[in-house]
Amino acid sequence: MWKVPAKLSGLFAEELSALGVALTALVAGGVLTGALALATQAFYKQQLHQRFELLASERYSRIAERFEEQEQRLDGLRRFFSYSSDITPAEFDGYARPLLRRTQAFSWAPRVAGVEREAFERMASVRLGQPYRILDHDAQGAWHAAPARDVYYPILYTQAVNQHGQLFGFDQNGQPLRAAALARAVSPGSMAVSAPLDMISVQPDYSRGLLVVAPVFADGAAVRAPPRGYVMALLSLSQLIGESLPAEADENLVVRIYDLSGGSTQEVLFDSGNEPAPMMLVNSQLLRLADHHFQLDIRPSLGFLADNRSSAVQVVGVLGGLLSVMLAALLYSLFSQRQRALAMVARRTAELRVSEQSLRVTHNQLRNVLDAATQVAIIATDLKGSITTFNAGAERMLGYGAAEALGQLTLEDLVQPEELHRRGHALGVRHGREIGAGQAMFVETAQEAGAQPADWTLVRKDGSHLLANMLVTAVLDEQGLWVGYLAICIDVTERRRIHEALAERDRLLEKLSAEVPGGIYQYRVDSDGHSCFPYASQGLNDIYEVDLAVLRKDATPAFERIHPEDLERVRASVRYSAEHLTSWREEFRVCLPRAGLRWVRGEATPEVGEQQCTLWHGYLTDISDLKRVEEELRALSVTDALTGIYNRRYFQDRLWSELERARREGLQLAVIMLDIDHFKRINDQFGHAVGDRVLRSLCERISHRLRRSDVFCRLGGEEFMVLCPGSDAEQARMLALELWQGVRGTPVDGVGQVTASFGVAGWRGGEGADALLLRADAGVYAAKQAGRDRVEGELV
Ligand code: GH3
Ligand code: MG
Ligand code: MG
Repeated sequence: MWKVPAKLSGLFAEELSALGVALTALVAGGVLTGALALATQAFYKQQLHQRFELLASERYSRIAERFEEQEQRLDGLRRFFSYSSDITPAEFDGYARPLLRRTQAFSWAPRVAGVEREAFERMASVRLGQPYRILDHDAQGAWHAAPARDVYYPILYTQAVNQHGQLFGFDQNGQPLRAAALARAVSPGSMAVSAPLDMISVQPDYSRGLLVVAPVFADGAAVRAPPRGYVMALLSLSQLIGESLPAEADENLVVRIYDLSGGSTQEVLFDSGNEPAPMMLVNSQLLRLADHHFQLDIRPSLGFLADNRSSAVQVVGVLGGLLSVMLAALLYSLFSQRQRALAMVARRTAELRVSEQSLRVTHNQLRNVLDAATQVAIIATDLKGSITTFNAGAERMLGYGAAEALGQLTLEDLVQPEELHRRGHALGVRHGREIGAGQAMFVETAQEAGAQPADWTLVRKDGSHLLANMLVTAVLDEQGLWVGYLAICIDVTERRRIHEALAERDRLLEKLSAEVPGGIYQYRVDSDGHSCFPYASQGLNDIYEVDLAVLRKDATPAFERIHPEDLERVRASVRYSAEHLTSWREEFRVCLPRAGLRWVRGEATPEVGEQQCTLWHGYLTDISDLKRVEEELRALSVTDALTGIYNRRYFQDRLWSELERARREGLQLAVIMLDIDHFKRINDQFGHAVGDRVLRSLCERISHRLRRSDVFCRLGGEEFMVLCPGSDAEQARMLALELWQGVRGTPVDGVGQVTASFGVAGWRGGEGADALLLRADAGVYAAKQAGRDRVEGELV
């Protein structure tokens, strides 16, 4: 099994190994830098050493040269004295002065035997032109005449840097150090140097010095004879070596000269005075001056170090360190990137395997689903339409085995060719471009709204036809690229057959209902009170003048058409029918926008439908014509045909109902009865038709004078009755008088004055109709009796 490594620990390990590489690189870089710095340091030291050796040997040569120079000058002075036995002071000065370079003084000290002292002093006084005596210099610095000695070597001539240093008469043999030097220089050509001594009359810096002596022999003197005298040079080493050397601060070398003559204590004769560098370097050589050796020690000074300081080591260290750090950082970055990349590859590989496996599982599931869908044909194709998937449903529906279909057939092969051409043509017209039959089933799949399923006639393997509802969609890959098509087909042959049978039934219903006067309908009231007409034939549109589509959803517009006076009755009867499941039958008025007021009759039978709704099936028909005839008939039955006023039957009904009302409500009621006088005569005289005209004319006049509430009736012949609800006998009598006047006041055309006799009766509580009428009749009779053409008040 593949195991996905924990991301966190993986990352940690990657970081760690990258860190390890970076640290190794850093350490290696550090070690290399260290080695390089050490090598640089060694090289630098070697260079320093070489440079120091060079400087030291140059300095040694210069000092040795100066020593040699002093020897040569002194030797020159000796030869000057060797060749001439009689040299004047002027000659000495002339020779010695130019030699006074780095030399404190040159002197000439002749040998004076003890016995010749006085003569010599005199001779010298004369020659020098000043008193001359042989002198000693004591430890306190005082001068006094030298004591008697066997031999004196007093200074006769001298040329000194310091004019006060002309120490005429100073006996060199009187000083032990000087005498020792003289004693060592006794052979021709020899030269000796004294031990270091304090020079007299020399500036303090240079006071410590050496005396170099060279013996001068007389020409032709015996081999063992003592020298004639000594030429001497007084040297200050500070001057000799220090002069024209670099200033102390610039001095690269520490120079020290030791006197080796002092045994264990070596006196420092010269010290350049600057600070030696803390180095082990030292150049130590022997310097020779005449018969004496000095030790010359040369060391590097701090100045030397400063001048030769090299930043190479630091530069190497810093650069190496920097490079190591950069290298470590670079390696760290590279390694961690690489590790990350590797980890990512591993992760991606794992993810890919997981998704591959899940893909395989999904694919198998899909395959199973495809094959389980035996009632649905699922066919996938590539972009060319060649079939790549053919499920069990497709095999069952079309009769091809999957092996026969895959790669062998295209989707078009399964569709009836004529239909394909027809659809292609229709699509071409719709889209305004040529669309081949082969594209007919795919062109709509590219539409934005998505493909819509359509019915297609498919051809089975055996050539028989099959009606299928097919949805063709595009198949896209992960990048959204079109890779093929997917067709899903459902066999709709049976559905189509049922659909057609239903449509046929609908048409039949439509035809039948067209023959039925009015409309037939289905009316439904849901449990929530909502009502509608799920079915309504065209006739219902004429009944309510409401669009049937509206009524199918909501019955309210139909109810809004019902006359307000009838609406509540209709609603109540519908409710009753629903509650008792009894047939509904109702006649009511509707107010229509076009047809106006119409009468409608409806009948329906209720049943309980789904979800507790109540469902009626019934009809509605327009009965306006029937109602009108009915009304006419009814009017005719209560109307007198000749005069148009109410007839006797109506009068009797009305009298009865008005009496009821008067009793119930305690109202007044009165009647006026009238009979035309001698009507028989009019008939006889003018004919029956004129008699009829008279009757109509009188009725018209009387009608005009009556109130709306009064009821005017013809009892028969020329007898009439006026029913006056709400009036008492007296009010009726007043009305009767008015009517009487109206009748007799205006003659009838062609007949002349016509009169009538009136009787009046007011209703008395508890009295019946007959009694009331009898009293009115009695009134008329009484009026006739009294001579006609009058109103007879109520009889008691
Ligand atoms: P009186 O003053 O006593 O009432 O005398 P009269 O002639 O009016 O009374 P009578 O009852 O004897 O006569 C009524 C007459 O009315 C008899 C009849 O021929 C006539 N008559 C009844 N009905 C009609 C009718 O419909 N048309 C015409 N033209 N005459 C009618
Ligand atoms: Mg009559
Ligand atoms: Mg009459």
